[in-house]
Amino acid sequence: MNRADLDWGNLAFGYRKTDYNIRYTWKDGNWNEGTLTKDENINMPMAATCLHYGQEAFEGLKVFEQKNGDIVAFRIEENARRMVRSCNKIFMAAPPEEMFIDAVRKTVEANRKFVPPYGTGASLYVRPLVIGTGPQIGVKPADEYVFIVFVMPVGPYFKEGFKPINLIVESEYDRAAPNGIGDVKVGGNYAAGLRASIRAKKAGFTEVLYLDAKEKRYIDESGPANFFGIDQNGHYVTPHSESILPSITNMSIVALAEEMGMKPERRPVDVEEIFSFKDAGCCGTAAVITPVGSITYGDRKAVYVEGDTPGEYCTALYKKLTGIQLGEEPDTRGWIRKI
Ligand SMILES: *Cc1c(COP(=O)(O)O)cnc(C)c1O
Repeated sequence: MNRADLDWGNLAFGYRKTDYNIRYTWKDGNWNEGTLTKDENINMPMAATCLHYGQEAFEGLKVFEQKNGDIVAFRIEENARRMVRSCNKIFMAAPPEEMFIDAVRKTVEANRKFVPPYGTGASLYVRPLVIGTGPQIGVKPADEYVFIVFVMPVGPYFKEGFKPINLIVESEYDRAAPNGIGDVKVGGNYAAGLRASIRAKKAGFTEVLYLDAKEKRYIDESGPANFFGIDQNGHYVTPHSESILPSITNMSIVALAEEMGMKPERRPVDVEEIFSFKDAGCCGTAAVITPVGSITYGDRKAVYVEGDTPGEYCTALYKKLTGIQLGEEPDTRGWIRKI
């Protein structure tokens, strides 16, 4: 395979044009065959519902080159399933799971030279999305949809890499309401989160930690990632909430934590508990496991680690998870699929 000439070890988490993307159109109740294209622009009516009424859902997953040279996706079936849930929730046509997986496979195949080599710490990030493209000016679902998959090689989401980040509890702005759409992966949730995120970054923090919108008492999640803490008993504690996105990474870590004797607990997590945790982290496909160094809440600050060395729990979980993704550890649960 002739690989693209990139500085694989120093990639940012950012958009980069690759050779091909794939597109399918839904019309009159059916998806078409789909076509690979080199075009990175989309042509659509200016009255398309995605541009006015937020009919947009997306996914994010990673493809890795493993130790033995296999090109694999991590838990892609879960992404396919979640995409269906997200589309259904905002009344969009959903790509069937097999079509989703096939679309990813074809796109990765066509961009094979952009799959980062094993051992560089980089991966191929896959971004599938569905948008309402049919024109409407009254508020109703579109009668046409486009499903696109594009890919790009990426490095770590937080520029720090596997180094502790600093969070601030957001107790003013909400990301999502309990009976809203915070539990699906739609663009609108991110638009709602920008003001908090930008304010936190201006104040010198890496990201925010949202509280539940109703009581402002329980931890929801961080902007683009779920949250977990390690309590005094060494248990893995992660919030249960109606308004957070069920992270596939978190679901995987819960299984690993169980196996590693960290007795996972998924329950409402009172924000005061941040002061008794002995380690904490953020998790998601892009964030992988990002150790949390400190959390600022009002005029108080919980500190988990000083300096650049991640806590021992985050480190152990990170090694286990990435070991499975990279084929350094056996995949006993069928999480890995050859692409
Ligand atoms: C995508 C996403 C996550 C992480 O989910 P993964 O399935 O682990 O990638 C967490 N929170 C939000 C809001 C997300 O959009």
